Amino acid sequence: MHQVASLEEVSAGVYAYVQPDGTWWINNAGFIVGSESVILIDTCSTQRRTTQLLDAVRSVTSAPVNIVVNTHHHGDHTHGNSFTAPAAIVAHRRCRETLLATGINHYEAVFQQPDWGSLRLSPPVITFESQLDLWADDLAVELHYIGEPAHTTNDVVAWIPDRKVLFTGDLVFHQGTPFVVMGSLAGSRRAIDRLREFGAEVIVPGHGPVCGPEVFDVVERYLTFVHDTAVNARHSGTSPLHAAQAADLGEFAALSDSERLVGNLHRAMAEMDGPHGNDSMSMTQALADMLTFNGGGVLRCLA
Ligand SMILES: [Zn+2]
Repeated sequence: MHQVASLEEVSAGVYAYVQPDGTWWINNAGFIVGSESVILIDTCSTQRRTTQLLDAVRSVTSAPVNIVVNTHHHGDHTHGNSFTAPAAIVAHRRCRETLLATGINHYEAVFQQPDWGSLRLSPPVITFESQLDLWADDLAVELHYIGEPAHTTNDVVAWIPDRKVLFTGDLVFHQGTPFVVMGSLAGSRRAIDRLREFGAEVIVPGHGPVCGPEVFDVVERYLTFVHDTAVNARHSGTSPLHAAQAADLGEFAALSDSERLVGNLHRAMAEMDGPHGNDSMSMTQALADMLTFNGGGVLRCLA
């Protein structure tokens, strides 16, 4: 049984679309309603979920979606892009490059497979490097690249300064375990500082309920925990998998998808060997170790 998504007007004409329970492939989206058009922030992982998101838009306005922002390339935020045609997809340049290189990726070896629907790759057609301003009438929606690899290599936030609302994409998981295996641990830690600098009062995270800036403290503590665990593992010659199995999760045991710790440790330990560890880490091994940590078999996916 799929849980029903909630639509929350976090500021006048600014909506957060929150899909419970926020675990693997179950993301948040959002939209900003102008008098003639709608800016959508992210799509969803499956055709069904994206259709429901677009139904939610139509429940508050008859204006068409004409711009879609992808906060990063991950499929739970981009798989539904084609269903928004003829809207223009906007993202960081590397989001487009990554999507074109990988295509629609279902990760069959890693996840239980949901009914994806009829997905068709629809890469961004407008890309930028550091900042791009969108407008919903006279309301500015600023897109900022976070500056370096963090959750992925192409993380973008949407900042509405007049309303102090920040859509963080997956730089923030609220009540879920952060995931840096496809980006950088060090970059993710610095990203938290950059997110704080916006001075946001309302945070729409990439997964989990809408919250305030206090969520940054939890994410920061988790990333520090990963760092410290990785340093200890390296000094004692322990593998990422064994370090994760031996770790005391403490307060982080309450976060969903705790197997991400193994992947995060792979990334953290690879980074000790060079910038962002891009050359020394095996993504295949990192993902395989997450399955082992979880007791074998593919990971649960409720999408
Ligand atoms: Zn993601």
